[in-house]
Amino acid sequence: MFYAEDSSGNLHSLLHLTPQELHVLHTSSYYCPYCKDTLFIRSGPKVKPHFAHYPKSECAANRGESEAHEQGKWALYEWLVRHNYDVKLEYPLRGPGQRPDVFVTIGAKRVAIEYQCARLSKDEIQRRTRQYKEHGIFPLWILGSHLLKQSSPGTIHMTEFLRNFLYSFHHHYSLYFFNSKTQCLTIASNLRSVSQRKTLADLRSYSLSTIQFSHLFQIPDSSFLHDLLPMWEKLLYKQRTVYNPHVSKGVQAFRDDVYRRGVHVSLLPTLAFLPSKGELAGAGPSYVWQTKFLFDHFIELEIGAPVFFPEQAVPPTINGYQPDLMKEYAYLLEALGYIKKSAKKGWVKTKQVIFHQHMQNALEDDRKTVAALKKLERINI
Ligand SMILES: [Zn+2]
Repeated sequence: MFYAEDSSGNLHSLLHLTPQELHVLHTSSYYCPYCKDTLFIRSGPKVKPHFAHYPKSECAANRGESEAHEQGKWALYEWLVRHNYDVKLEYPLRGPGQRPDVFVTIGAKRVAIEYQCARLSKDEIQRRTRQYKEHGIFPLWILGSHLLKQSSPGTIHMTEFLRNFLYSFHHHYSLYFFNSKTQCLTIASNLRSVSQRKTLADLRSYSLSTIQFSHLFQIPDSSFLHDLLPMWEKLLYKQRTVYNPHVSKGVQAFRDDVYRRGVHVSLLPTLAFLPSKGELAGAGPSYVWQTKFLFDHFIELEIGAPVFFPEQAVPPTINGYQPDLMKEYAYLLEALGYIKKSAKKGWVKTKQVIFHQHMQNALEDDRKTVAALKKLERINI
């Protein structure tokens, strides 16, 4: 660790000291800010000077870290030092009781950068994020680039682990990655779900020598529903024509429920499969809640009847963004002519939903719906 306490509890750093200054310090006593054990100074020609626990220590702060993590943390720290930021490496923050890899202060803003290379439980990610936020510190999780897996050009493989680190700027989802070997930062922005796993991404990589810290939050806005439609159409086709026996318990329960209502999943109306941000954010497959809405709140209504949209929960991003899934869905239903706004009644139904008896009709419905959505101007859904 790079900070330790003296006997009065004041923090001392070994960074940026001359060998002479360091030599003097070797005779002083230092203590771990966490377990209060005595520490010793480790330094040498190939080692950046740091405080170390004695071998028998059981301190939680004495965590072994991978070489990639060590290198990456230093690279990010030195990058910010070069740009003259007020920056600290592994500084023990007393408020949140944490030691972020890199801690940056920019005017009144405080940012804790965590360069995460290893797996971490969801609870731990949420706990750390919450503790930073409670103390007015913005947590910036940057993931090891080995966690970024491209399934094909322009798409990435979304995992439950990655979902924990989503940010949203101007209603667009993004993730941050860093390769400690190449010193390259990759911003995966404008993320859009095609399915639970397959996610469209605008991937841009920057060498640390060319990018400024502020660029991390100035994400180019280039996402259109149009980009998503061709893949979505293919997926819809597959959904109807290929039966997947390997589904989660939740999806199996959904299939059984639809069947009990007298419909086969492959013949559900296209309205049950509309694109949504919820899938990416972790709200489960969109067709599950869209089908439930259609059955419980829409198909049995008369034309002209008011439509009630129940809330559809979705986990927030690290920076607190929660899309209103039902509002987005209502917008698509309006664009497709199924509802309209009435001054007195709010949303009212304007068209009946057709349930198909044959696959050919269902596929035709899909084609028409995709064509109608293509005509829409830019939509951010
Ligand atoms: Zn300790």
